[in-house]
Amino acid sequence: MNKSEQSALDLLFQQDPEVAQALQQEDDRQRYSVVLIASENYASKAVLQAQSGVMNNKYAEGYPGRRYYGGCQYVDVVERLAIQRAQQLFGAEHVNVQAHSGSQANMAAYFATLKPGETVLGMALDQGGHLTHGATVSFSGNTYKFVQYGVDRQTETIDYDQLERLAQEHRPKLIVAGCSAYSRIIDFPRFRAIADQVGALLMVDMAHIAGLIAGGAHPSPFPHAHIVTSTTQKTLRGPRGGLILCTEELARKVDSAVFPYSQGGPFMHVIAAKAVCFGEALRPDFARYASQVVSNCQLLAQELSEAGLRLVAGGTDNHLVLVDVTPLGITGRDAESALESVGIIANKNAIPYDPKPPRVTSGLRLGTPAITSRGCGPAEMRQVARWIVQILTNMGNDQVKQQVAQEVRAMTSRFPVPGIDQ
Ligand SMILES: *Cc1c(COP(=O)(O)O)cnc(C)c1O
Repeated sequence: MNKSEQSALDLLFQQDPEVAQALQQEDDRQRYSVVLIASENYASKAVLQAQSGVMNNKYAEGYPGRRYYGGCQYVDVVERLAIQRAQQLFGAEHVNVQAHSGSQANMAAYFATLKPGETVLGMALDQGGHLTHGATVSFSGNTYKFVQYGVDRQTETIDYDQLERLAQEHRPKLIVAGCSAYSRIIDFPRFRAIADQVGALLMVDMAHIAGLIAGGAHPSPFPHAHIVTSTTQKTLRGPRGGLILCTEELARKVDSAVFPYSQGGPFMHVIAAKAVCFGEALRPDFARYASQVVSNCQLLAQELSEAGLRLVAGGTDNHLVLVDVTPLGITGRDAESALESVGIIANKNAIPYDPKPPRVTSGLRLGTPAITSRGCGPAEMRQVARWIVQILTNMGNDQVKQQVAQEVRAMTSRFPVPGIDQ
């Protein structure tokens, strides 16, 4: 932490020691953990600075140049920058940067393209999809008639033949592609061909892989998708927030679906931070970052596989790998908590056709976006794989745990955290 941050925290300590202490502890936790949560990352100091700045105080309902409040000249500047940079980054015709989160972006995308009760194809949550792709506990599954597709039992990759059959049978208005726990390349041209066969629109939710797409490490959903949604906090390494990109044809519908239909005043401080994030992602070193995320993940996966763990879908092409821990005689929940006890943070995750309930699961989802942002490379991936294997094959052995915890502390001390140390 530098001087000005320390003094900001000192002020907070004086005024509100309870909150300040939790912030300080979270700072330490992030610094001394090996973060393998595939949806997390470390935003840069510049992103955090923009996000914590004075634009927090501004009301700006509407869009740049047509607001419902005075005093919007500077927030207009950052929103226009965010839009232009996102257009350049992804090659999109139209961009909306106001969605508060990935889920809000999806809600607005549905409002823009569907009427309540219309039919949509989405990937099932327990096969790698997202809550907002039609789960019954989500608004999505209750507002629209979602038909869920999934992965092939053998290959554990998206079953495009099943998708095609379901599309022919149900004639959806919209097909949603995109996942939260899928380790292989998504075939966007194939999705589009299926959508075209039945006259459906194609929506791609690239929340997890947006940074890989921006950095050229995963094929782009453009020009195949009619509408694309994303978060900005995952592989894109920005502030927590949402993003919608679409064709010119859908532009007005998307903008009015965000405001005024589903949101009020935009978070201008977050939009400023999105502009910074897109600016960072446009630089050549972001492409190096994206390809390092993937090569780190592939090495981690290979090491775990060589140590006898089973990889769902046989491995990974992207930033995450899903590990089936049942061969070790443990559950995903056991694995998550044993790893957490030594400072390795990951999450339990259902594997396709998982016989265990969602709170238990057979799988562990591991991702490399965050540790790659710290500058970790091949040597650290081998080390992390060794730790994971040691812990998961010595469950309940406190001596092993103590040893690994010390090593984790030593390694994390050597890798500065973007946004905290630099
Ligand atoms: C993370 C995620 C979202 C939701 O993002 P939030 O910002 O958490 O609302 C939506 N879709 C997919 C595929 C995701 O992985």
